[in-house]
Amino acid sequence: MPLHAKDSVRERLDDEVYASADLAVSMPKYKFPLAEHDPRHAYSVVHDELMLDGNARQNLATFCQTWAEPEVHRLMDECMDKNMVDKDEYPQTAEIEARCVHMLADLWNSPAAANTIGCSTSGSSEAAMLGGMAMKRRWEARRKAAGKPIDRPNLITGPVQICWHKFARYWDIELREIPLEDGRFLMTPAEVIRRCDDNTIGVVPTLGVTFTCQYEPVKAVADALDELQRDSGLDIPMHVDGASGGFLAPFCAPELVWDFRIPRVKSINTSGHKFGMSPLGVGWVIWREVEDLPEELIFWVNYLGGNMRDIALNFSRPGGQVVCQYYNFLRLGKEGYRKIHSACYQTAAFLAERIGKLGPFEILYGGDRHQGIPALCWRIRDGVDPGFTLYDLADRLRSRGWQVPAYSLPANCQGLVIQRILVRHGVSRDLGALLVEDIQRAIDFLAKHPIPAPLGAAEASGFRH
Ligand SMILES: *Cc1c(COP(=O)(O)O)cnc(C)c1O
Repeated sequence: MPLHAKDSVRERLDDEVYASADLAVSMPKYKFPLAEHDPRHAYSVVHDELMLDGNARQNLATFCQTWAEPEVHRLMDECMDKNMVDKDEYPQTAEIEARCVHMLADLWNSPAAANTIGCSTSGSSEAAMLGGMAMKRRWEARRKAAGKPIDRPNLITGPVQICWHKFARYWDIELREIPLEDGRFLMTPAEVIRRCDDNTIGVVPTLGVTFTCQYEPVKAVADALDELQRDSGLDIPMHVDGASGGFLAPFCAPELVWDFRIPRVKSINTSGHKFGMSPLGVGWVIWREVEDLPEELIFWVNYLGGNMRDIALNFSRPGGQVVCQYYNFLRLGKEGYRKIHSACYQTAAFLAERIGKLGPFEILYGGDRHQGIPALCWRIRDGVDPGFTLYDLADRLRSRGWQVPAYSLPANCQGLVIQRILVRHGVSRDLGALLVEDIQRAIDFLAKHPIPAPLGAAEASGFRH
């Protein structure tokens, strides 16, 4: 065979990705690769490995968006190179961010949407840090002015998401997290007031508690703090963690008073990538009025050209998520968000009803739009021993690709294990019905093949590094 013909055969074979010399061997895993690889080969390796990840659409554990319109995919592609921090270079992206801040202030009934201040962040965690820092600085300023010490700040919360534990630990703040009681999974005004003192920098209710998905009583807590101020002079501000609820209550429970209609609510955070329906990587923090954000948390940056205000903890950050947030605001408006989220609430209620009827489960929260987010959670009925734990059920459902986490509640209900489903855009009624069938099938299977050693919390989560 002439040489050139052989070469062209080899080239053709090289073209067959999986027959290439590159892919006939295992790729480097932990040592920095020595040689380069063909982009198609490297792509195939990475692409294929990702098949082992769970299917995001069947991930009913996450609050985050797992479905997006084709237009969102396009905008993300177009914004690949936009850096959120380069406000002078990408002034229109910066302008879009500013518009979103004002739109959110308006959505949350700021009395002065034009005189509000806020920013996008990488998520609610960063937004919570910023809201928390502002409360700490304002408290310090008040204490210093009164000649009092500032070494023992505390923060009062209900059962909070991990970001508030981080905030407290990173910035040396005592976290007074109200423990749960059997049958009470949220903060109450009385439990908050009992914990308030001179060193309380703020109170953080959550609109959509991570564990049970319910709204904490923001207005009732605010009223109790008003009374406390009348009686004792203590003026304690509130920050609302609206990671989920900030994009739900305004559309689906507009009569619920939890936002800037309450003067004591000085700041709110939300996750754009949860029920704001943007791609992963955007959150928001908004202060009620410019005066509520201490000057020292604002940095002025001149080395990108212009003199730009920078509030966030991160510096460089992708702009696409923010642009898509704006797209969603324009595309959906209040009407569209209400439609989509209402469908989710209906699917959550449908699932709660069906799962409640299966027998062994007691629904703790069933997706009521006035009480929480479109989600549901359940426990095994008191006095019932179905022969398996919720960890076993979660494990069994995994074999069909469903990710329905089981977990224990925080203090003082560590003994109570519950299971939770988040219903987001894309978790359709039809998909829900298929899931219920699979839960029934799993129960039948577990009844026929009893578990000799049911899974406990320690072994439950399959994958740990
Ligand atoms: C998800 C969540 C957070 C953290 O938000 P990220 O956007 O994931 O950083 C904080 N608080 C609550 C209540 C949440 O649900």
